[in-house]
Amino acid sequence: MIRHDYSRVDTKRRPNIDYKKRQFAKAEFQQQSYDHRLNFYTLPPTAEITLEEFETWAISRLKVLSELEACSFRNRSPEETAEYMTSILSKHLPLHSNSSRIQSLQDERRKDHYSHFILRLAFSSTEDLRRRFSRLETMLFRLRFRDDDFKERQEFVKDLNLEWEEVDEDEKRELKDQLMAASGVRKGDEQEWIKVDWERVPELVEQRRAFLKRGKAYVPQREQQSLVVADFTKRLDEALSLTARALPRLDEDDRLAPILAHLSQSFNSPDAAYSSSDADIEGLSAIRAGAIDTLSKSFPLCMQNLHMTLRANSHLKHYGRLQYTLFLKGIGLSLEECIIFWRKSFKLMTDDKFQKEYKYNIRHAYGDVGGDANRRGRGYTPYSCHKIITEPLPGPGQSHGCPYRTFNPENLTALLQRVGVQDRDLLKTVREDVQKQRYHVACNRVFEHAHKKEIKKVKDDGTWSAADLDTIVHPNAYFKRSWLLKHLGEGNAGMVGGGDKMEE
Ligand code: SF4
Repeated sequence: MIRHDYSRVDTKRRPNIDYKKRQFAKAEFQQQSYDHRLNFYTLPPTAEITLEEFETWAISRLKVLSELEACSFRNRSPEETAEYMTSILSKHLPLHSNSSRIQSLQDERRKDHYSHFILRLAFSSTEDLRRRFSRLETMLFRLRFRDDDFKERQEFVKDLNLEWEEVDEDEKRELKDQLMAASGVRKGDEQEWIKVDWERVPELVEQRRAFLKRGKAYVPQREQQSLVVADFTKRLDEALSLTARALPRLDEDDRLAPILAHLSQSFNSPDAAYSSSDADIEGLSAIRAGAIDTLSKSFPLCMQNLHMTLRANSHLKHYGRLQYTLFLKGIGLSLEECIIFWRKSFKLMTDDKFQKEYKYNIRHAYGDVGGDANRRGRGYTPYSCHKIITEPLPGPGQSHGCPYRTFNPENLTALLQRVGVQDRDLLKTVREDVQKQRYHVACNRVFEHAHKKEIKKVKDDGTWSAADLDTIVHPNAYFKRSWLLKHLGEGNAGMVGGGDKMEE
């Protein structure tokens, strides 16, 4: 399924392996066409895609699944979830109905199909990952099923050939009272009924929404969604177990294994690349070193912690400096201003020591000196939450990392209270998140609480969509959103922080 210009795989090491020939002997490189918007993902994709498509499509789907998971962690109702997910889906994984007649219909469906199978590979290695993937894919399918055009949905269901029987008129007449009593359908609202083996609809049986007779469940047509969704989950669970068994063979492919490993890691703490647009903040330009104290009120906890430690000790250890310098660079602080910032912050240090031992590292982070990563003069990229959360824990005296992960519960509560989080319920929920290792969920919860009023405003007046308020997975995105929300309706603030001069 992957197109590549060259292969780094040593063909002598595995002379008889050609997956395409073995698994897709007949369908080799075939483009599939998609009649329906919805997909049960029974047929694996067989056409070629590039490695770049392989990765970017998977990341798009991962984003959607992560947002769905965040909705369930936050106990959002199905209606709230549907509303929240509308713009997320249209941004990352749009799927239009046939009636829309847009040109990219087949491309959208292809991306949906392939991305499902790529993540299936990435998330079938352990029982825990399989369960999470199946639960989230089921949520996604249910959401799309609910929203689908009625006629197209019926055609899709018909093509599935699910094993159920329609209840004929004679049987309906005979069982009329029991059917009505079991389903809550009122007289006059009579409708079509279907019967299936009761094991296939445990949800309906448990909630007494179906009539049971001789091992069959009689289900009203309006409950069709439960039936289809249950079938979707059952098939996916079976397919995931099969994929898990085939996985060891994939380890031999040294192009895919690293991508798949990265994807499955990102499932725990979603990864995000730094976007240079995070430094492009309306109303905030030419940040000066002297502004950092004020701006730090909009920093996420990881950076606030570094800032407060720096102010308390007039010093930060190497990894803390690196994490913070890259973040400051990411919000748009120039190299010159960054050097001024550190020089002034290390106020107990002689100028000679600073010039000799510290200045070079700051210039290096900005790409002003050094080779390798700095070759193109851009330096290092600001760290994402994923990177900060997954790096080794800080040692004694170090302050880098994500406090939601690195602090014990008491110290985390104290730190949050210090930055102004007093709400007891929120602190309790944050502790629960942290216990379940949902560090970025805790961070987003704190963000939403701190910006409650502003978020309500932009939602009510429709100026921000749900995609603008999606889950934050990068400290620089946190800052940008916080700044914009706290300065709604203000014009360009121009140069921020006055005109500090470098003290030579
Ligand atoms: Fe910083 Fe991300 Fe941790 Fe929030 S979740 S404190 S932004 S590393």
